[in-house]
Amino acid sequence: MTDRSAIRYRIRPKSPEAHLYEVSVTVADPDPLGQRFALPAWIPGSYMIREYARHFVTVRAASGGRAVRIEKLDKHTWRAERCDGALTVSADVYAWDLSVRGAHLDTSHGFFNGACVFLRCVGREHEPCEVEILPPRGGRYRAWRVATALPRRDAPAYGFGLYAAADYDELIDHPVETGTFSLVSFKTRGVPHDIAITGRHDADLDRLARDVKRICVTQIDFFGGRAPMDRYVFLVTAVGEGYGGLEHRASTALLTGRDALPHAGSREATDAYRGFLGLVSHEYFHTWNVKRIKPAAFTPYDLARENYTTLLWAFEGFTSYYDDLLLVRAGLMDEAAFLKTWGESLTRILRGSGRLKQSVAESSFDAWIKFYRQDENASNAVVNYYAKGAAVGLALDLLIRQKTRGRRSLDDVMRLLHERYGRTGEGVPEEGVERAAEEVAGAKLTRFFAQAVHGTEDLPLERLLRYVGVKLTVRPAESPGDRGGKASSKSAAVLASRVTLGARTAAEGSAVKITAVLDGGPAQAAGVSAGDVLIAIDGLRASADTLEDRLARMRPGQRVKLHLFRRDELQEREVELAAPPADTCVLEIDPGLKGRARARRAWLAGR
Ligand code: ZN
Repeated sequence: MTDRSAIRYRIRPKSPEAHLYEVSVTVADPDPLGQRFALPAWIPGSYMIREYARHFVTVRAASGGRAVRIEKLDKHTWRAERCDGALTVSADVYAWDLSVRGAHLDTSHGFFNGACVFLRCVGREHEPCEVEILPPRGGRYRAWRVATALPRRDAPAYGFGLYAAADYDELIDHPVETGTFSLVSFKTRGVPHDIAITGRHDADLDRLARDVKRICVTQIDFFGGRAPMDRYVFLVTAVGEGYGGLEHRASTALLTGRDALPHAGSREATDAYRGFLGLVSHEYFHTWNVKRIKPAAFTPYDLARENYTTLLWAFEGFTSYYDDLLLVRAGLMDEAAFLKTWGESLTRILRGSGRLKQSVAESSFDAWIKFYRQDENASNAVVNYYAKGAAVGLALDLLIRQKTRGRRSLDDVMRLLHERYGRTGEGVPEEGVERAAEEVAGAKLTRFFAQAVHGTEDLPLERLLRYVGVKLTVRPAESPGDRGGKASSKSAAVLASRVTLGARTAAEGSAVKITAVLDGGPAQAAGVSAGDVLIAIDGLRASADTLEDRLARMRPGQRVKLHLFRRDELQEREVELAAPPADTCVLEIDPGLKGRARARRAWLAGR
């Protein structure tokens, strides 16, 4: 006997050119009634059924050098026929999904999430397992290395070899990057951190490490000064265009535009770089909020089907609230940029009437079929639990600060949740966040949560922001490109005399495609639909370049003819143009509220 685990995985890029991994699992003592194996239908952190089994090209089983019959029981479950000795199931897995939640392999690198490649031995999920990670065959791959937070059992640092996990849940919670990535490392609060960057880039690694380290220190200290992991890895993939992240217990996979990374020699803090640091901050905060403080619905995860919780507004929303706020506290974002970002965020919320129909609790519950599967009607039907959840965090933070005269805050709620649930591993019950907030506030917050979380009324942010001396104003947009966040140079009368079609558009060749029709707007009243191609307005050709100029010459209440193609059939519609709604938010320091400056500093500095 050896001390090897009874469950052993092996993964090797079989053909990088064909994007095929060969993955196997060997069970020393399979179920005598026939061992079952299953692949997750989804990956924790991304709430959509993805059915990873569809990328399993071939599956075979063998024992003692002889083939064993293996049959499929449902879309992602297999059962091998009973056998006496160790059983090995092998599969060729197609890996051509360059996203943080997939697997991707070519001759330049390999990346995989365990959920996409490792079969779960049904009934043996809690046993320790090990995985041998191998390079592709051939001399051209000699320089490849491995970046992952999986604990090493018998492998050199950053090298191929044997890795281990305490159970299946851990096995699939450490994504793995292999290739010739660049690497920069730092230690913070005693914990080694790596940043591995794949893809062509010219990033200033020292600056990147310095800035990311400030985020990590700020967050570890936020939760009491001791990190819950003994090492951490940022797996960054730099591409032409892209943005996304997925959190794990001791690492994160990030996708970013390569030009968002700061290049050597530049000291500039571009919006894109701040966006990247915001992503880093977001995913790192998840190390606590959702990877340790978890909804009861995720303890444990059921990987075969949807896991329903109404709490994503707290797990994604509060994480979104803190990602930028902690950048301010880390000294990586100033007050002006922070207020501008909030103005843009509140604008995005206000521009979707879905917020008037769906609460953030409902949006969380239905994430699987709505937020993650948005169509042209999404802004009329779905509220974004990230953006509005962050606004709920802002409102709740200000409310608690106000009620306790600055003695307590949402920070204390997060720390209480971490003590109560994060450290114990107990899941947060559906009402657990509300109860914790009431405990910290020392008051019932029933009305607040009924409105903010379970209702669809707009949040009372104008009033709450006054507590920190910030004035929130709402005005009409000054142009289609106006994302909010800053005051307009145009007068209120000029802004109110603009017109809107009540539709979102995009260029389609020389014409204009209607991409969304907003509820209650002129386009909807006239029977215009998403997918229609607008070719003329008021008898003159409409193009993406000229549409705005045309509309700028018209007045609210004016009736004009639209010519459109739908299913290649010419349609004529008469539309009554409307004044634009007040849906553009600006946050500014209110000079009339000088006495609130101390409360604002405490909020931004985290005291
Ligand atoms: Zn998130």
